[in-house]
Amino acid sequence: MYIVQIASECAPVIKAGGLGDVVYGLSRELETRGNTVEIILPKYDCMRYDHIWGLHDAYRELWVPWYGGAIHCSVYCGWVHGRLCFFIEPHSPDNYFNRGCYYGCDDDNMRFAFFSKAALEFLQKSNKRPDVIHCHDWQTGLVPVMLFENYKYDMGLQRVCYTIHNFKHQGIGGPQTLWATGLNREAYFFDYSRLRDNFNPFALNYMKGGIVYSNYVTTVSPHHAWEAQHTDIGYGLGHTLHLHQDKFRGVLNGIDYDIWNPEVDRYIPHTFTKDDLEGKAKNKKALRDRLLLQDVDKPIICFIGRLDEQKGVHLVHHAIYHALKKNAQFVLLGSATEAGINAHFQHEKAFLNDNPDVHLELGFNEELSHLIYAGADMIVVPSNYEPCGLTQMIGLKYGTVPIVRGVGGLVNTVFDRDYDQDHLPEQRNGYVFYDTDYGAIESAMDRAIALWYNEPEEFQKLVVQGMNYDYSWNYPGKEYLEIYDMIRYYK
Ligand code: ADP
Repeated sequence: MYIVQIASECAPVIKAGGLGDVVYGLSRELETRGNTVEIILPKYDCMRYDHIWGLHDAYRELWVPWYGGAIHCSVYCGWVHGRLCFFIEPHSPDNYFNRGCYYGCDDDNMRFAFFSKAALEFLQKSNKRPDVIHCHDWQTGLVPVMLFENYKYDMGLQRVCYTIHNFKHQGIGGPQTLWATGLNREAYFFDYSRLRDNFNPFALNYMKGGIVYSNYVTTVSPHHAWEAQHTDIGYGLGHTLHLHQDKFRGVLNGIDYDIWNPEVDRYIPHTFTKDDLEGKAKNKKALRDRLLLQDVDKPIICFIGRLDEQKGVHLVHHAIYHALKKNAQFVLLGSATEAGINAHFQHEKAFLNDNPDVHLELGFNEELSHLIYAGADMIVVPSNYEPCGLTQMIGLKYGTVPIVRGVGGLVNTVFDRDYDQDHLPEQRNGYVFYDTDYGAIESAMDRAIALWYNEPEEFQKLVVQGMNYDYSWNYPGKEYLEIYDMIRYYK
C-alpha cells in the first residue's frame, strides 16, 4: 500500500510533543510491514536540520493558488532516520514557516490552511497518487475537505484517515480561509453539517471539517475515544463525533522501541534488560552525578512533559514537595509555553536550587529525557486529561513505575498494583489515582514510596511486570493497516 502522511511534526526533526513521535513511529512500522510511506511537512526554519540526511530540492516550481493569485513554493526532500520526508517552503512575504517556532503565531490558522493546500497541490502536480492519506490534528483538518471538494477529479480515489491527538486545539478560521484556499461557497461550508463550529456560528472549525470529510477518524486511545464522545473532553465536538460514530474509534499509540529501548539506547551510559537491572542502578547514579543530586538510599521520582494545564501542573508542583516530605528525590524536565506557568516554575527552581534532593530542568532536552527515564524509579503523570500519553509507556519500558491519574490513554496502559479489578496481580504495572485533589496523588505516591522502602523485592517485581508490556507500534500498526484496508475497499 502507498501511504502519505501529512502532518505538522515528525520526530526528531520537528517535535513539540507526542504528535511528532507518532508520525515517525507509525510510518516506520508501516514500512516495516512492507508499505511505502512518505511524509509531507512544512519546512520550518527552526527544525533540527542535523537529523535530515541528503536534503535537496525535489520540486522547484510549485505554485500554490492562494486568494486570487498563487504562492511560489519549493519542495525539499530528505531522509529523517530512514523515513522519506518532503518539506514545503513557501516564498512569500508572510514567511509562514520562518518564524523561529512551530506554533503560537496569531495567523496559525492561515499558516496551516496554506500548508494543507500546498500539500495537496504537491501531490497533484507531482503525480503522487497514494492509496491512503493520513492526516493529523487540526493543522491538516482541511486536507480531506479540499481533497473531496476541490481535488477529487484530478486526484482519483484517495482515502483519508484522520487522527486527532488533542481535541483542545481545533483550528478556528473565518470566511477568509474559504477565499484563500479556493473553497469559497460560504453558505455551503458554514452549514452545521459541514465546517461551521458547533458553538460559534461565525467560525469555521478545521477539526470538525476533518471529522466530517475523512473516511475514517481515530483518536489515540480507546478510553479517550469514549471520553471525547461522552464528556466535555471533546471540547464541543462530542455531537459531531456522535453523528459520525460508525467511522470513529480509538487506536492506542505505540512507542518506537528502536528509540525508546533501554537495551539499545545510545543516550544512556548503561544499557539494561528486564533480566539484568544492574545497568538501571548505574544510570540512577549517572543521573544523580549529572544533576548534582546527593547519592543516598532514596527513590527518584520524575516528571517529564509540557508544563501546561493539561498536564495537571498544580499536581506536578505538589508532587515535588510531597516527594521531598516522604524522603524521595524529584527530577523534573519540562517546558512551559505559558508565561505565568513558566515564571512559577522558574521561581520554584530558584527556591529549590540548593536542595540536594531535587532538580528542575526547564526546557526541552531529548537526550536528558532518556537518562531520566532510565535512572528514575517512578514517573508521575497527573494529567487533567491525556489523549494517550507516551511518558508512562516509555517509563514502563525503562522500568520506571508510573503513578498516573486515571484518564484517557493512561487508563488503557497503567493498571493499579493494589486495586485493579480487571488484571491479575502479575499483570499490574503501576499506581492509579482519580481525583484532582492533593489527597489522591499523595495516597498513590505514598503507596509507591512505601513499597520501594519496605518491600524492595516486590517493587522489583512490579518494575519487571511493567517492562514485560509490549507498547510498541506492533499492534497499533496492524490496526491502522486494517483501517486503511477497510476504507479502501468498503467505505
Ligand atoms: P504531549 O503530546 O501531550 O506533549 P505525550 O506524553 O504524548 O505528551 O508525549 C510527550 C513526548 O515529548 C514524550 O516523548 C516526552 O519524552 C517528550 N517530552 C515532553 N517534554 C519534554 C522535554 N521538556 N524535554 C524532552 N522531551 C520532552
